[in-house]
Amino acid sequence: MNYAFDIGGSKIEFGVFDANGDVLLRRKVSTPRDDRACFITTLSGFVQEADAGFSVQGDIGISLAGGVDPKTGAVISANIPAITGWPLATELSDILGRTVLVENDADCFALAEATSGAAVNADTVFAIILGTGVGGGIVFDGQFVGGKSGIRGEWGHGNDVTGTLVRHGLSPVTCGCGRTGCLDSWGGARGLERIYDQITHQVLDSKSITAAWCSGNEAASKAIDIYCDLVARELALMVNVLDPNCIPVGGGLASEKALIAKIDDRVRKQALGRYDAPLVIPGAHADDGGLRGAALLHRMVARARLE
Ligand SMILES: [Zn+2]
Repeated sequence: MNYAFDIGGSKIEFGVFDANGDVLLRRKVSTPRDDRACFITTLSGFVQEADAGFSVQGDIGISLAGGVDPKTGAVISANIPAITGWPLATELSDILGRTVLVENDADCFALAEATSGAAVNADTVFAIILGTGVGGGIVFDGQFVGGKSGIRGEWGHGNDVTGTLVRHGLSPVTCGCGRTGCLDSWGGARGLERIYDQITHQVLDSKSITAAWCSGNEAASKAIDIYCDLVARELALMVNVLDPNCIPVGGGLASEKALIAKIDDRVRKQALGRYDAPLVIPGAHADDGGLRGAALLHRMVARARLE
């Protein structure tokens, strides 16, 4: 039995999975963002309920909106002050009396897609999140890569898309990470809305923009063209580096199938390698990949020990 948490800045999801990956129990609450005692009580309550309900002590995996410092175990998180800088895995392991594993939510999504989603049997999976901003996780042969800093797969930061922005008549903005020119400010739903705002001086949410695009609206079509240009350029670079089997998409924009297909078309045209089949595809677990991936963490670690 696997217990999984998906911990984000606004909500915490809890799930109990059986050996086949089927969900037996699901719970969801608001994240106690600023109160660590309440945070611990919330997680403990779900675990105790599951232990009692299923008469087992399930192992626990956590998908986290943030990273973990591999040396100290401290959480690197911008939006959950209650646990930022706190060694979440070791402290919870002590409190709950079993090993707790914690990984980044985009990594967990990638693991879920590689194990039972859109990328089953793929050697190299680069899963991306097109949510509020952009994120990414890499799974190679069933395992995560890297691990020196606790930050990886972040293809939305460190870019400089300023040239593309200026060419399209857009003004660069400062990213949350402090740099200017990061794709993160332009590659998610907020980015699409920012593009539309800058070219029309009108505020429209991302869903309305994609709907207007699908019905032939000119301004929305221009915004989508610019958006796809920005995203596809950076994705094509990642494809040139990783040569992935596929790129499953999660996050809110993953449900926009026509948008994903347009990005895929551009990426395959721009990549150096030849890809005859779609690379950028909607994830099978776009809605709950973090939770599903968290439930797989213990299995992944056990497999790594055997190899
Ligand atoms: Zn940035």
